[in-house]
Amino acid sequence: MVYEVKQFIDGKAVSSSQRTLSLYNPATGAITGKVNVADKQTVDQAVAAAKKAFPAWAATTPPQRAKILFRFKQLLDEHRDELVKLVTQEHGKTTSEAQGSLQRGMDVVDFTCGIPNHLKSAYTSDVGTGVDSYSLYQPLGVCVGITPFNFPAMIPLWMFPMAIACGNTFVLKPSEKDPSCALRMVELAKEAGVPDGVVNLVNGDKETVDALITHPDVKAVSFVGSSNVAEYVYNTAIAHHKRAQAFGGAKNHCIVMPDANLDQTAKSLVTAAYDCAGERCMAISVVVAVGDEVADKLIQKMKPLIQQLKIGAGNTKDVQMGPLITEQHLQKVKSYVATGKEEGATLVIDGSQFQSADNPQGFFMGGCLFDHVTPEMRIYREEIFGPVLSVVRVPDFQTALQLINDHEYGNGTAIFTNDGHTAKTFADKVQVGMVGVNVSVPVPVAYHSFGGWKRSIFSDIGMYGNDAVRFYTKLKTITQRWFPKEKI
Ligand code: NAD
Repeated sequence: MVYEVKQFIDGKAVSSSQRTLSLYNPATGAITGKVNVADKQTVDQAVAAAKKAFPAWAATTPPQRAKILFRFKQLLDEHRDELVKLVTQEHGKTTSEAQGSLQRGMDVVDFTCGIPNHLKSAYTSDVGTGVDSYSLYQPLGVCVGITPFNFPAMIPLWMFPMAIACGNTFVLKPSEKDPSCALRMVELAKEAGVPDGVVNLVNGDKETVDALITHPDVKAVSFVGSSNVAEYVYNTAIAHHKRAQAFGGAKNHCIVMPDANLDQTAKSLVTAAYDCAGERCMAISVVVAVGDEVADKLIQKMKPLIQQLKIGAGNTKDVQMGPLITEQHLQKVKSYVATGKEEGATLVIDGSQFQSADNPQGFFMGGCLFDHVTPEMRIYREEIFGPVLSVVRVPDFQTALQLINDHEYGNGTAIFTNDGHTAKTFADKVQVGMVGVNVSVPVPVAYHSFGGWKRSIFSDIGMYGNDAVRFYTKLKTITQRWFPKEKI
């Protein structure tokens, strides 16, 4: 039976407009559900509910909010298996990938439970005679979060728990491709004691996003998705006087130096490139091999690992790589493989023709590996967002570093080396926001903020960690003097 995903407004499921979009199980290719698209009126309703709930929630003390967030965290834990199944069913991730990403999101919820401490501010007595000064971090009002398809549990958890911990109310717009996990988490937030209207969820596409980011009662917008949409959302939100942060796409490079342990590096790179079928903004998509010998040896070591990747439905035992999100995205990724060949790169492994025997209609492809990729090629310049890894050969470290710094994206990067000085120089000089040293996917933990540079970000403040406390609050600084009523 085809299920329907509704909106969640003021604590209730709402089915509003006539327009729906299909939901697929990417492993089987079958339509399994439909998602109800929120039109402008529905968005107005959600924002009005959030606006109405704001004064009472902002007046709820941070320790009281923390108690509710603890309970929310506990419910996420109790419903772990159910949430993981929803992620695997609609997104296609393997069960272990879904578990890992849910855990990363829950780590952020852990951090929000410390909100009384995070909202502590500075106090200076006697800045002048009888004059004290102190700061407050106050909530903004109604905040909005718009999330991509690729982490349907984790990325919503980057946003709404911290926004509400800071005393704001929230409207979440998850990806229209896999919204069910986000909806279930918002229902669990209600069960945990989050009052009605504090967290709302609307589903939809551009129509819904436009209504949210231009709404006069919305004070802040957090966005994660592709760079062109991120730029549009950021500019539109700013033009409508909102605080905004918008995170975009990536092309993450990994430098491999001649002194690196190539066995460890090969294993680590295969995981970094092909886990989550390459659909993650921190995936490594370019290996920059320093010297032909490194490139040749590394490719020989990676080849069997890529060819032996077990590909199948995410809920199958021992499967390492699930399907891509949609048929359309699958075709786009495959077209990049064809482009790479036309551009003259060497296709060392061609997984583009992979067919699953169990699920012939599923959106599967195998891992692809290109060698002799050069910077002018489209497969080098553009984000592919699939299981396609490119090897670029360079003569030395400085050329490798320059290549990364010249690229328009700057989300994540890594270096594999046994030389501390090279690693330190790389970490100091590279123009990228998140850097790994012998760590191929350097996603910061929940108490260090997440954020890329260059065209991977439109804003100057990261997600989660202390940056999120700053993003979701306004700083107010009070300078006070008290005159005696009478002599004491
Ligand atoms: P997307 O940009 O297509 O969609 C993201 C969100 O924007 C969705 O909720 C979607 O409904 C909405 N949207 C899509 N087109 C829109 C438009 N024209 N106007 C307004 N809203 C629109 O991204 P996606 O395909 O869901 O996700 C993959 C992308 O997200 C990749 O580029 C990936 O690198 C990026 N990503 C970045 C990060 C990061 O932290 N930098 C994290 C995860 C994913």
